[in-house]
Order: sequence, then structure tokens, then C-alpha cells
Amino acid sequence: MSGAGAGTTAEVTGGSGAVRKSGAVGGADAVTEAEAVGGGEKVTDADADVDAVGGGDRVTAAEAVGGGEKVREADAVADLVTEADAAAEAEKGTRARHEAEAHAVVKADEAAEAGVGAPAGTGARRQGPVLAVRGLSVRFLMPGGRRIAAVTDAHFEVAAGECLALIGESGCGKSVLASALLGLLPGNAQTAGQALLGDLDLLSVGERTLARTVRGRLIGLVPQSPAAHLTPVRTIRSQLEETVAALAPVRGRKALRAAAEAAAERAAFPSGHLDRYPHELSGGLAQRAATALALVGDAPLLLADEPTTGLDRDLVDRTVDELRRHVDADGTGRALLMITHDLAAAERIADRVAVMYAGRIVELADAAAFFGAPGPRHPYSRGLLDALPDRAFVPIPGMPPELGDLPGGCAFAARCDRATDVCATPPPGTGTVACHHPHAVEDVRA
Ligand code: SF4
Repeated sequence: MSGAGAGTTAEVTGGSGAVRKSGAVGGADAVTEAEAVGGGEKVTDADADVDAVGGGDRVTAAEAVGGGEKVREADAVADLVTEADAAAEAEKGTRARHEAEAHAVVKADEAAEAGVGAPAGTGARRQGPVLAVRGLSVRFLMPGGRRIAAVTDAHFEVAAGECLALIGESGCGKSVLASALLGLLPGNAQTAGQALLGDLDLLSVGERTLARTVRGRLIGLVPQSPAAHLTPVRTIRSQLEETVAALAPVRGRKALRAAAEAAAERAAFPSGHLDRYPHELSGGLAQRAATALALVGDAPLLLADEPTTGLDRDLVDRTVDELRRHVDADGTGRALLMITHDLAAAERIADRVAVMYAGRIVELADAAAFFGAPGPRHPYSRGLLDALPDRAFVPIPGMPPELGDLPGGCAFAARCDRATDVCATPPPGTGTVACHHPHAVEDVRA
């Protein structure tokens, strides 16, 4: 999604479709499923339906009323108002349309797989979490038969209106998990488990569905490096207009321009900078531009992958506050999964925290209880907080294990001051703390 090639719709909405392909899905069964998911014509139909619904056609209809005659000045003003209304209406309906589109495409894909005609999509809102990850594992197959256990048996949910912060040291598997959700793993990756976005399993749908309905429309990605994410040779306005044209039912130059400016405003990107190129922006403004692009599709899930990397503290606070504002916005039902190693940012924004170590989620906790009282229960989580300069400032001894050479028992044992012989066996995989000897609530309060 970076560099000069980032200007295309697929890249704007979540990266090159060529990255995943069927081989990225993993084992033979998964590959077969990925190959079976198709229905290109159905996708085109779905797109046509979406086009027919939105504001673009209203504008066209308004222009057609004159029967080709010159439109009087007063009518032109009225058209502008109509365009604005249409854009506003279109924006409000974008979420439902995207879900309907996703539903239609998935049904079309299923129908194509089954060899029957495509049923009509309903687009009905679903109950339950926005994202439910069940037993997600990712393995990388390396030359010589080596297997890297990047993510192992991850379970978590993110509800509408909630921010879940996935925290842990660099290299613990956080970003691999994010790539798995977006279908952007390299070809030597194998996945297992489920990642349900509504009733859509992100791990089993094909690249066509991921590219056309998931990236940008159902998952908005706030990238790790905004400056690299933006196309360097095009202005922010141009990139926003292209993204709006791809993801929202807005047609016509004036309507596109208005919608792009509205998108910039939503991310607090100043309109006076819209005609600038990425290299002319500060880090903060580049972050806002990237956030504006992520919000265009009005996706129900925002996935922010290290969105504060390289920012100074003031900018970190402003960035996470803006992300929080988009989750809290009235009636959006939006959820945020923020992947970060910045514990201060996580504390500022999160409702719940998932701690990852050596590819496993070792603790899931309410954020207030985790950062305040009673505090973390897993020894690694406790060590992370104790390492902060404004806390004990005591680093965790040792280094994380190689993901290609994990011990049979607890992966944290070599660094843990609570380890006993039983820790040579895998810690419990159920519950909210994966540890044989978690800190008791009473211990932490003491
Ligand atoms: S299972 Fe044992 S080694 Fe692992 S974190 Fe818990 S106490 Fe420490």
C-alpha cells in the first residue's frame, strides 16, 4: 500500500490483491476453498447495484430533468443543494450498503461454488461482536521444513463501540495477526481457526471478496507508517477523491470534491492542506490523511496497526483521541482493534487489553483494571507495566524465544520469576490468563 503503486483502488482499500492469493491461505483444504470462491460476474452485479443506489444517480437524474436543455442558474443552485443532500444521504447509507454488498458477494461466491444461481443478499445487520477471532493460528513454512509459529490459538472478540488494544513486544505476532485478518499474509503462510466479521470468515473467503468487500469497506486500515502509505506523487485531495469514488456511492466532480473534503474534516485534516503532496505534510498531518482514507468506507471495524509509531507524545495523544472519537461517534457501531507496543497509548484509548507473547494471547483484561487496580495477572503483563519509566522502570530479564523454536511448556518460563516445574507443560488455554501461577487479585492489591 505504499509508494507509487499505492494509487489504485485495491491498494488504497487495503493493499495489493496479489499479496495473498490462494497459497497464502495455507493448507490444501484452504487453498481449494480459496480457489473455489469466485463469481466475478456476481461481484460486478453487486457493484452495479451499489452504484444504482447512491447519490451519483440522484445527481444524474437531476441533470436529466432538464431534458438536455440549459439549466437555469436557480436550478443549478438547487442541483448543488441536491448533490450535497445526496452525498449526505449516501454517507449515511454507506455502512448498510457495504454490508449488503459483502453479503451479496459472499452469497454469490457460495453460489458459484455450489453451481447454482446467486440468491439475493439481504444485508441485514447482525447481532453479536463486530469481530470474533476463534483459534486463529498462523504458521510460516520456511526453507528446510522449518515452521515459524507466528500466532497460536488466538481467541478474542471486539464489540461495537469498543476499542481492544492488542499489546506486546515487537515480534510477538501482533502485526502478523493483523495481516491475517486483512488477507495480506505472504504465500508461505498457513492459517487455521476463524476470524468472523459478522458471518464472514476472513480466513476462508477468497481474495476477490477480500479485495472488493473487506479491505476498506468492512475493515478500515489505519497504517503503521502513514507517510509510506500515501502515494507520494499525488495530492491528498486526489487520493481522497479516488477513495471516495471507489468506496462511496458519490458521482460527479462537485459531489466527489465535497465528499473528499467532508472525509478530511472527519479526520481533522485541514482543508487548506488538501492540495499538498505527502512529503509536504508533517507526521501528524500524514497520520490524519491516512486516517481520513481509512474512514471513507465507513467500515464497521477499524484496524489500527501501530498508528502512533514515530510520533511524539502530544501527537500520540491526539492520534489516539481521534481514533477513539471515531469509535464513540453516535450511531456508528464502529469497533477498533488497535495493535500497539505503546502502553501509554493503549491505556489512553482502550476498553479492553489483549496481551500477546511469543504468538499467544496470554491475558485478556478490562483496561481500567489492567492499568489501574487490581492490575495485570499474568507475570509477563506485570513485567510490561513494571518496565515503564513512570512505574517501576525494571526491565523484564532475558529475551523472547525464537518463534521457530518455542519450548513445549510456557514460552515465558525462562524469564519468569514465578516459574515452577509445572510450567514445563503448556499453561491453560481457556480463561482470561494463560498461566499456571497468575497473580491473584489480592496479591496485586497488596
Ligand atoms: S505459566 Fe509459569 S512460567 Fe509461564 S508465566 Fe505463568 S508462572 Fe510464569
